[in-house]
Amino acid sequence: MQPDGQSADELFQRVEGVTYNDFIILPGHIDFGAEEVDLSTRITRRIPLKVPVVSSPMDTVTESKMAISLALMGGLGIIHYNNSPDEQIAQVRRVKRFENGFITDPIVLSPNHRIGDIDRIREKEGFSGIPITVDGTLKTRLVGIVTNRDIDFEPDRSRLLKEVMVRELNTAPQGISLAEANQRLRESKRGKLPIVDEEGRLVGLVSRTDLKKNRDFPDACKDKRKQLRVGASVSTRASDRERIAGLVEAGVDVLVVDSAQGDSIFQVEMLAYLKKNFPNLDVLAGNVVTTRQCDNLIKAGADGIRIGMGPGSICTTQETMACGRAQATAVYECAKFCREMDVPCTADGGISSTGALAKALSLGASTGMMGGMFAGTQEAPGEYFYKDGVRVKKYRGLASVEAMEKGGAKRYLYGLKGIKVAQGVSGLVVDKGSVLDLVPYIVQSLRQSLQDMGVRGLGELHRALYSGQLRFERRSHSAQREGGVHSLLAYEEPVLGVRHEP
Ligand code: GDP
Ligand code: 5GP
Repeated sequence: MQPDGQSADELFQRVEGVTYNDFIILPGHIDFGAEEVDLSTRITRRIPLKVPVVSSPMDTVTESKMAISLALMGGLGIIHYNNSPDEQIAQVRRVKRFENGFITDPIVLSPNHRIGDIDRIREKEGFSGIPITVDGTLKTRLVGIVTNRDIDFEPDRSRLLKEVMVRELNTAPQGISLAEANQRLRESKRGKLPIVDEEGRLVGLVSRTDLKKNRDFPDACKDKRKQLRVGASVSTRASDRERIAGLVEAGVDVLVVDSAQGDSIFQVEMLAYLKKNFPNLDVLAGNVVTTRQCDNLIKAGADGIRIGMGPGSICTTQETMACGRAQATAVYECAKFCREMDVPCTADGGISSTGALAKALSLGASTGMMGGMFAGTQEAPGEYFYKDGVRVKKYRGLASVEAMEKGGAKRYLYGLKGIKVAQGVSGLVVDKGSVLDLVPYIVQSLRQSLQDMGVRGLGELHRALYSGQLRFERRSHSAQREGGVHSLLAYEEPVLGVRHEP
């Protein structure tokens, strides 16, 4: 029997570019449950993810709140760089400090500090369980601990910590395993377990909250120290080198070199610099849309490739620059090349539905990067406001006039007289609630989608793609209309809540 439809190779053997909307995937045979579908993947050579979901480095999408929530659910957030180096580094620190195995550099104070000092730490870092050492550094003996319970109801915030700290400490010796420390913490019913060396100096801290976070988010994307993973973007400019040093010091897991057209001497030089100075840091390079561009960046040391030029929902690049590529074609061609080089790739832009994400993955992408999808959630930066009775948040391109005025044109090359040509717009998106609800929805949709295709995971999906077993079909304009909502007077999109009025 001849298989229906076309293989991907046949689908893309066309003169014109193909978008996600232009094709559909034919169903396979189901002999397993959706819960069996394995969505684990890699964003770069050495950084695994539990789910193929990444947020864009944009100032209306990803700061620490977004990155924390996405990492808790197995994805990854990329902190934007339309801010000062100090601001971006602080955002990365906040993600890395959010959850821990052993906290190896706990913040400590001395008995002569005041309750007000703890208030300031709580405001900046989000925690207030502070071990007390003789001189307020990790070099001297641990003498007490102050937790919320000791200072909650104290009206006089100028009181010295030595007057309120708890001195009877339940500690564990240096060298204890994390599993054993966690067991002791559970049994002690206390909030913190300090780990001390033979001289009684604090060498680590284990927190009860982390046990709960671990229980509540078993799929969290974490590094070896059990800290959440986070990415950060930088430009190709040499002036960003100081920023990079700070991000690495703060523990960033993936650096994203962010250019609209990634195949430039500037990016190649930046990759050479990064590989020489930070050989253990994984770098996601891009953006690209052709195999030649991929080849240049992979040769220059890229650990992952970011694909997309012009498909973003806020993007006007293709109209202003006449350069770019239809996204499905770009993903298919680049991903095929990256696979030969064993380099993961990310489909970036134009993923406005769970179906588009499934299509990006089915064309060979290892992950999908989304801006518009996550804009308008509680975790996205910016305040909600009402527009014509609808609760909205702002979402803007990094190359919109507005973002460039704040300093965001670094992704785009401009020279002559500093004239900047906008390649993006600023718009509004509806309130989408919390990503803690949105991501499980996306993940469940993906599982069901792969189940419909008859594959048990992303590995199997890609094998089926390249063997020609995964079948595709072009959609005519009327087929696209038929596949969307039609013949209704008005309706509301599920989850995203967008209302379509007559
Ligand atoms: P606290 O009781 O006010 O300290 O706060 P929680 O126990 O609710 O939360 C502490 C969270 O902050 C845990 O997830 C810790 O891993 C994390 N954390 C990161 N660095 C530190 C640190 O230096 N000290 C403390 N106490 N917590 C830290
Ligand atoms: P979305 O998920 O909203 O469709 O697209 C997000 C992607 O658009 C980002 O990850 C980034 O690659 C790209 N992008 C962000 N800002 C701009 C911009 O101002 N102009 C263009 N051309 N692309 C942008």
